[in-house]
Amino acid sequence: MQVFLTVRELSMFLDILLKAKKKIGFVPTMGALHPGHLSLIKKSAEENDITVCSIFVNPTQFNNSSDLANYPRAIESDTAMLKVVACDVLFAPSIEEIYRQGEVNSTPSIDFQGIEVVMEGVYRKEHFKGVVQVVKRLFDIVRPTNAYFGEKDYQQLVVIKKMVKSLKLPISIIGCYIVREVDGLAMSSRNVRLSNEGRKNAGFIYKTLLVAKQNAHKASVSDLKKWVTDVLNANEYFRVEYVEIADSTTLLSTHEWQQSSSQRLFVAVFVDEIRLIDNIVL
Ligand code: AMP
Repeated sequence: MQVFLTVRELSMFLDILLKAKKKIGFVPTMGALHPGHLSLIKKSAEENDITVCSIFVNPTQFNNSSDLANYPRAIESDTAMLKVVACDVLFAPSIEEIYRQGEVNSTPSIDFQGIEVVMEGVYRKEHFKGVVQVVKRLFDIVRPTNAYFGEKDYQQLVVIKKMVKSLKLPISIIGCYIVREVDGLAMSSRNVRLSNEGRKNAGFIYKTLLVAKQNAHKASVSDLKKWVTDVLNANEYFRVEYVEIADSTTLLSTHEWQQSSSQRLFVAVFVDEIRLIDNIVL
């Protein structure tokens, strides 16, 4: 695996591959890798000539400075894992490398039609502005054919698809299934920060989503949301931030069940003050 720390060196390497019309698959991450991330790398490796993984903890997408300071970093074990899954290129730039002077606040102006201001957008102000900023910058550097994003961060996936469409970028955005622990907890870099008790209880989030899925279309939308909220809040380790049922494509809040379109249930829950998100198609 080739490791690049600078934009200049990575660009020179990729220029040659792009001239040779190679298909580049790209998996942007913030590191502290787990099997969820690796599933994206493996999918990219199957579908492209070369796979680039980036590890960059992007400061502009954190609304909470202690979350940024405590975000797990594990570049050595990450590098070892990427070699095992035969990733071709690791790009691990510094903040200065990504945000040259004066560019920190530059974000492409796009009409997201409201998808960026619901759910995560309500509770993590400026989060998607930072995500769009960094993903656009990384796309400009890597120039991928295909880019892979997890459904774990479903709203992010929809935002990135919208960005690519709006800016007419020649990149296919591929959504990938959520990889879970044995007890159902969605894998996340933040899970390592859970206490033992928090971790033991955290599998209950997905179990609740599964029961809700069975009851979708039976209970009313508002009753189901209330049931999920109450059941999760009843766990002494949990504090629900939001429970939402929304259209899978537009992310508009669902008020009545629709047969003609797909709906998803989204939750954000603090477990031991660690904020976890999950979602399920209904
Ligand atoms: P992150 O490092 O958290 O920014 O995640 C990088 C990419 O991995 C994003 O596209 C995430 O949605 C994806 N990802 C994170 N956790 C999982 C998971 N459990 N299953 C599938 N994809 C995931």
